[in-house]
Amino acid sequence: MAHSPRALQKMQHEADDIARDGGTPLLLTKDQLAAEGLNGEFYGALTTPVGFGLNPRKYLFGLARAASAAGVQLFQNSPAQKITAEGSHHIITTPAGTLRSDQVIIATNGYSSDDLPDWLSARYMPTQSTAMVTRPLRDEELQAQGWFSDQMAYDSRNMLHYFRLMPDRRFLFGMRGGLLSSPRVEQGIRRKLRRDFERLFPAWKNVETTHSWSGMVCLSRNLVPFVGPLPDNPGMLAGLCYHGNGVAMGSYSGRLLADLAQGKTPDLPYSPVMQGLSRFPFGRARRMVMPPAYALLGMMD
Ligand SMILES: Cc1cc2nc3c(=O)[nH]c(=O)nc-3n(C[C@H](O)[C@H](O)[C@H](O)COP(=O)(O)OP(=O)(O)OC[C@H]3O[C@@H](n4cnc5c(N)ncnc54)[C@H](O)[C@@H]3O)c2cc1C
Repeated sequence: MAHSPRALQKMQHEADDIARDGGTPLLLTKDQLAAEGLNGEFYGALTTPVGFGLNPRKYLFGLARAASAAGVQLFQNSPAQKITAEGSHHIITTPAGTLRSDQVIIATNGYSSDDLPDWLSARYMPTQSTAMVTRPLRDEELQAQGWFSDQMAYDSRNMLHYFRLMPDRRFLFGMRGGLLSSPRVEQGIRRKLRRDFERLFPAWKNVETTHSWSGMVCLSRNLVPFVGPLPDNPGMLAGLCYHGNGVAMGSYSGRLLADLAQGKTPDLPYSPVMQGLSRFPFGRARRMVMPPAYALLGMMD
């Protein structure tokens, strides 16, 4: 969804690129958006009719059930505290016991630690994403805003918003932001989220928020996920840095990792750009540069 006329122009170029690569992009004007039941404070939009929305919690539980049925043992509330190499094995220490393994896959994304293993130090940037949902919207409220579509969407801002009408007619609205996980920062970002929601969907100014939550997502310096073996750490692999888009990409990466851990050549496309993870400047203090960077990006928006 274009937040400015300039963003819409950029989308035109993007549509040309997608078409050249064999995709079927669709560029919609503001009037066409309204006719599709996607009326908000936007100048137009670009869609590629691929993919669909899902409930990530149900998806996670489905994956866990499928893994358990295949014989996988899952241990919750059992953090790896230390990983040490012992010959060709790794010893993983947890509060409840130790594991011995030939292969270890690190899949901790925005919850990673700089010393698990040391190689990860400063190579990922955890950052927060915050979402809210409203109470179910009544038909007349949907009419008043002109939004009836089930299409999920996000806008073209640097500090982008993502949103969709859920099957039970609650509206989900989220954004990047809130860099530190303190209660004060959390309250601030929730207030900003609500303000932005009311600005983009003015007909719903008086519709209450019933739930809010936040969690960590993860960025890499080259803005591409990392999937592969860790240099200098034989038998150790990782998949992380999905830039807030890990629901599909995490599963894709999981399949690549499963093949790699078994010494097979992955049967999915596995781009070389996903196989390197460079360090951010400022090491452990790297998150301190984010507030001014976010402020600047917000001002540009
Ligand atoms: C509010 C919000 C909205 C989002 N919206 C979308 C969206 O619309 N679409 C999309 O694609 N993605 C979205 N994401 C991002 C998506 O949730 C992530 O990309 C995805 O969950 C990454 O999956 P993962 O399994 O790699 O990591 P996570 O789901 O973050 O799981 C990492 C796990 O590692 C565990 N862990 C950490 N340290 C240890 C340790 N030492 N030992 C053992 N376990 C450990 C953690 O407890 C956690 O369970 C959103 C995220 C948030 C927070």
